Amino acid sequence: MQIFHCPDCAAQVWFNNTFCPNGHPLHFDPDAQVMTHGDDCARRVAIGCNWRAEGAGELCRSCAMTEVIPDPEVEGAESRLARTEAAKRWVLAGLLRWGWFGPADHGPAPRFDLVADRTRHGPEDIIMGHADGLITLDVAESSRAVQEERREQLAEDYRTMSGHLRHELAHYLFMRLSQDDPGFAPAFRALFGDERVDYGEALKAHYDNPKPAGGTHITSYATAHPHEDWAETVAHLLHLTDLVDSGWAVALAPGGDGYAEPDALALIERAADFAMRVNHVNRALDLPDLYPFVLTDAVRDKLAFAHGALRRGG
Ligand SMILES: [Zn+2]
Ligand SMILES: [Zn+2]
Repeated sequence: MQIFHCPDCAAQVWFNNTFCPNGHPLHFDPDAQVMTHGDDCARRVAIGCNWRAEGAGELCRSCAMTEVIPDPEVEGAESRLARTEAAKRWVLAGLLRWGWFGPADHGPAPRFDLVADRTRHGPEDIIMGHADGLITLDVAESSRAVQEERREQLAEDYRTMSGHLRHELAHYLFMRLSQDDPGFAPAFRALFGDERVDYGEALKAHYDNPKPAGGTHITSYATAHPHEDWAETVAHLLHLTDLVDSGWAVALAPGGDGYAEPDALALIERAADFAMRVNHVNRALDLPDLYPFVLTDAVRDKLAFAHGALRRGG
């Protein structure tokens, strides 16, 4: 993510700011990727959305993709939704830099059901996932305490709302790439395996007897099925690209705009090198590693395939 400037006074501002330090209102333009003047998104006050509306009185492009929001009467629902939408805007802004969801993208935009595991009628079981362009997420995952509890239960190394968004959007992008390019699926299968094998059985086998990450897969969950390998791989590609881009924006990582880097393996090497340095810094404060994953050569080949497909596809 880049750093922005107030259109009125040129003060430095951050992606999620709604006002500059001098009190000027900020509106993010997702196509130009700058803070500008514009109409308020209709959800600006409720959830602190700082994107410009697509028209007067309307929603911004990100909020317009959300079809279901949690009942605001339930305690904590609105603040969890606000954090979920903030993570969603961040992830979408990155994909927009590769052309996804911009004016030249004529495919269907993803849709989101952002639901809460607590309702006024009691707890609700939510299955997060993607089906036919609709992404369902549990806004409870925007709570660090909830994330940490579930991360430990599932023995994961990393669990964030951005991670969920990137993973589920990857399933949506697989659908789009398969529809738009007949060459995509055969090339995918050569590297990731045949995604037409039974998904339910594969997932059950994974939960009965999970295989470790390493070698050819970035995470244990990626071993479950080629679809999940793709989603985990793409999520990590997006993490690594944004890591490089954000590091460059604050003059910590050399090499320029991460999203403009055409050489996937060079991008991954920059990300791995930068992550290793920040991991070392985090250990000084006894914090978890920023990026606790090993990028083997086989995993890098899959990341490079995803990089090529996503940069072309947008
Ligand atoms: Zn200002
Ligand atoms: Zn909005």
